[in-house]
Amino acid sequence: MNDLRLLPSVDQLLQTPSILDYISVYGRPLTVKAIRSVLDEVRNTYVNGEPILPQDELLDEIQDKLISWTEPTLQQVINATGVILHTNLGRAPLSQAALIAIQETASSYSTLEYELEKGRRGSRAIHAEDLLKRITGAEGAIVVNNNASAVLLILSTLARRRKVCIARSQLVEIGGGFRIPDVMKQSGAKLFEIGTTNRVHLYDYERAIQEESIRLIMRAHRSNFQILGFTSEPSIRDIVKVAHQAEIPVMDDLGSGSLIETNQFGLGHEPMIQESLAAGVDLVCFSGDKLLGGPQAGIILGKGDLISKLKKHPLARAIRPDKLCLGALSATLLHYLKEEALSKIPVWRMISEPAEQIKARATQWAAHLDRGTVLQGESTIGGGSLPGETLPTWLLAINARHPNRLLSKLRQSSPPIIARLDDDKIMFDPRTVLAEQEQHLLTYLNNILIP
Ligand SMILES: *Cc1c(COP(=O)(O)O)cnc(C)c1O
Repeated sequence: MNDLRLLPSVDQLLQTPSILDYISVYGRPLTVKAIRSVLDEVRNTYVNGEPILPQDELLDEIQDKLISWTEPTLQQVINATGVILHTNLGRAPLSQAALIAIQETASSYSTLEYELEKGRRGSRAIHAEDLLKRITGAEGAIVVNNNASAVLLILSTLARRRKVCIARSQLVEIGGGFRIPDVMKQSGAKLFEIGTTNRVHLYDYERAIQEESIRLIMRAHRSNFQILGFTSEPSIRDIVKVAHQAEIPVMDDLGSGSLIETNQFGLGHEPMIQESLAAGVDLVCFSGDKLLGGPQAGIILGKGDLISKLKKHPLARAIRPDKLCLGALSATLLHYLKEEALSKIPVWRMISEPAEQIKARATQWAAHLDRGTVLQGESTIGGGSLPGETLPTWLLAINARHPNRLLSKLRQSSPPIIARLDDDKIMFDPRTVLAEQEQHLLTYLNNILIP
């Protein structure tokens, strides 16, 4: 095959049974584009001395092209890493009720901004916000696109061109390029740093308030790192007391924030939303898809008058949540109101799953595969909550001669399986593998381990 005239034409290829199959899957226009693209490539490489491909190889290339053009870049994966809020893997999987809310809101018209009783225009603000107020007792609530935009909205509204006081030990980078000082700059607020990298005292706040015209005091949760040793930070309650004496509002960026006490699971204490509100913080903000276990969102709770100001800022319109987010968030919040979060919200189900039960699952996996050992290990929370804290777990460990080759094969599964490599063993943590994905994981593993 070394004559360009032997190359089939587009029309000839369109008569072949394989191409007719492709057309039924991908449609005619896209299939024709793929044929043209492959024929062009063959002509170009022919000029450089490459031989002309036989027809069956041409057909394979056309199919590969169609697959790579249409394969979704965003797809489900099975998370066997044991990192519960894995930011690269999309943070929190949603509860069944949240999925149904998304399905129903997305597939039909909805009451997004419509009052059924009066038959007139309503407000999208009511959906998740009423639930948030009911659950936390906060006076006001606003939901925005994510927590980064929540911080931006608060600073832009309350402190543009004004000084915001923050401790040096809280000027953190969260990951994904979110740096507290950069967001502050973006909002037009002026950063006024107090304390040192490891220590800040109440008198640092008092001095700043006396000597500078501070408009807002900000506290940011360090989220993904710890400072250990010679450290100190006043309690949020004391900061609030000092600030309120001078009539300065306090905002608290909790990052993850939690509505549930984490130390009941043998973890450290993750700052709770209720605690900040009880301490008198004027505004507290946190993510929807970290420990709340819902969709991506930024949630701001606090004093009614300040929340009203936030709602009127032009930025609020630009960062408002969409109807799918509001549907899923409301369904997630309802689990908290009904006090069924531990059993209904996947991240809380994972956090609260007893180690013994995980051990039983890992043992069952090993028996099913007739291979691997069950080892004690650790799961982590991730998502910028509880840094350094782990949950005891049990792992299925599989020895592989070429561990990286096996990991790559696992990623070629559909859905792909993401495991972790430790000590030359491939580790699978049942804690983060959803019940409905277990069977696929085992079947696929069985198939690739047999040869
Ligand atoms: C995670 C985090 C953010 C950013 O939240 P997103 O919802 O990802 O935008 C902001 N501040 C803190 C302290 C965080 O931990």
